Amino acid sequence: MSNRETKTDVILIGAGIMSATLGTLLKELAPEWKITVFEKLENAGEESSNEWNNAGTGHAALCELNYTSEKSDGSIDISKAIKINEQFQLSMQFWSYLVNNKLIHKPQDFIMPLPHMSMVLGEENVTFLKKRFEAMSNNPLFQGMEFSDDPAKLKEWIPLIMEDRPANEPIAATKIDSGTDVNFGALTRILFDHLKSKNVDINYKHSVDNMKRTSDGSWELKVRNDSGNIEHHTAKFVFVGGGGGSLHLLQKSGIPEGKHIGGFPVSGLFLVCNNPEVVEQHHAKVYGKAKVGAPPMSVPHLDTRFIDNKKSLLFGPFAGFSPKFLKTGSMLDLVTSVKPDNVVTMLAAGAKEMSLTKYLIQQVMLSKEKRIEELREFIPNAQLEDWDTVVAGQRVQVIKDTEAGGKGTLQFGTEVITASDGSIAALLGASPGASTAVHVMLDVINKCFPQHMKEWEPKIKEIIPSYGLSLMENVELLHEIHTSTAETLGLSEKDLVNS
Ligand SMILES: Cc1cc2nc3c(=O)[nH]c(=O)nc-3n(C[C@H](O)[C@H](O)[C@H](O)COP(=O)(O)OP(=O)(O)OC[C@H]3O[C@@H](n4cnc5c(N)ncnc54)[C@H](O)[C@@H]3O)c2cc1C
Repeated sequence: MSNRETKTDVILIGAGIMSATLGTLLKELAPEWKITVFEKLENAGEESSNEWNNAGTGHAALCELNYTSEKSDGSIDISKAIKINEQFQLSMQFWSYLVNNKLIHKPQDFIMPLPHMSMVLGEENVTFLKKRFEAMSNNPLFQGMEFSDDPAKLKEWIPLIMEDRPANEPIAATKIDSGTDVNFGALTRILFDHLKSKNVDINYKHSVDNMKRTSDGSWELKVRNDSGNIEHHTAKFVFVGGGGGSLHLLQKSGIPEGKHIGGFPVSGLFLVCNNPEVVEQHHAKVYGKAKVGAPPMSVPHLDTRFIDNKKSLLFGPFAGFSPKFLKTGSMLDLVTSVKPDNVVTMLAAGAKEMSLTKYLIQQVMLSKEKRIEELREFIPNAQLEDWDTVVAGQRVQVIKDTEAGGKGTLQFGTEVITASDGSIAALLGASPGASTAVHVMLDVINKCFPQHMKEWEPKIKEIIPSYGLSLMENVELLHEIHTSTAETLGLSEKDLVNS
């Protein structure tokens, strides 16, 4: 039994991109605050934030077809795409600030320029894509988007996808060169190295087992250390950034805001190609359309990835079902997340989502050959031996009761749950994910530290010049920010040619 006990201002649970972002922001806003981190694994960025556990798309809604829907009158609703693009601009400004202030030395260690494309097959989908292009390309946020249904042009853009494709098949694509591939694992590790240099107390192989509120409103955490002994640590503010592990921790906190919420895990799998001859023929992230019945996070895409100075291709994700809430989690995670307060919500979701569960189980059963068949919709002559399977991270989708969807409605976004006194915040859900970490963590800061916001606002604006403004409505500022972030992060046209 260990007697180690500490008192601190802030405890961050989990060393993923969310805690890394919140910790870095807080260190800039309140450098004197003491911050402690507990991470149950050996290193930072080992779960969903790891480069092999997610797709590394800098989600700016430049290519994801599930962010734009067709309305009943046939017009295209781009409001979600606008929201996500605006949120991504906050991340770009924050990362640029870190580079400009030498907190990050080499941006190419975590971010690379890469065209983002949407590609569809079939006449109906081509019509949809054209309408979508017309709706988006007039918006300043999506400036530079091109459309083509000309096979010769498409061969220039995506030679690997066009090779050996039947000539009579209707096909179209949009392309925008200002997209990115982001290595969120590397970014997480860079930010934790920076936090360490700022004397943040980072404890790996320390698992938070339980927590309770103390009489003065602080939180006391029961932590199992690397020797298996129990420690107690107290903080005025706790951020539950446990990724898939957050729901269990939120339930342990006992706060009323965490009741009637459940989680539904969706696993992911990618095919990866390291054959340089194949890899060299593709240079983009190409997003297709989700199959009927597939959840939005399983939109298939073929991506160039830059990991450890090496280029590879990634195809997927193939969704699947596993009851684990973390890749390194337990088979009992789903069962133990069912509590008296959320059992009705969970049962309602179970009844509603039978077809999704069936779909996920079918996906899990797919053989590698069957997966290659799906890949051949993108690369007609894909060869089995060029592709390996990698297991990605778990995404725990939030289940809650909503007015629109009724009891047990599955949510596909992220949810920040905070106690009414702002002493604890938990992040649930996983989409659009790491790309919008800065937006989500600013939301946490706003909700949990309202008393400091006036004092902190000038610094936040120094870090994020567009803070509080809509870039779509401030076109001049948008151009300035696009130009300066691209230059600072090595994403300008010159870098694009060299990447
Ligand atoms: C297949 C897949 C593809 C994705 N693609 C993209 C993409 O292309 N672009 C994008 O922006 N996002 C993507 N995402 C989402 C993105 O990866 C996540 O939103 C993001 O990484 C979540 O970060 P996090 O810090 O919340 O969680 P994590 O990175 O999972 O970190 C949580 C940490 O908490 C630790 N932990 C958990 N419980 C405890 C405990 N009790 N005590 C101590 N430590 C604990 C875990 O070990 C882990 O290290 C994808 C996700 C998946 C699964």
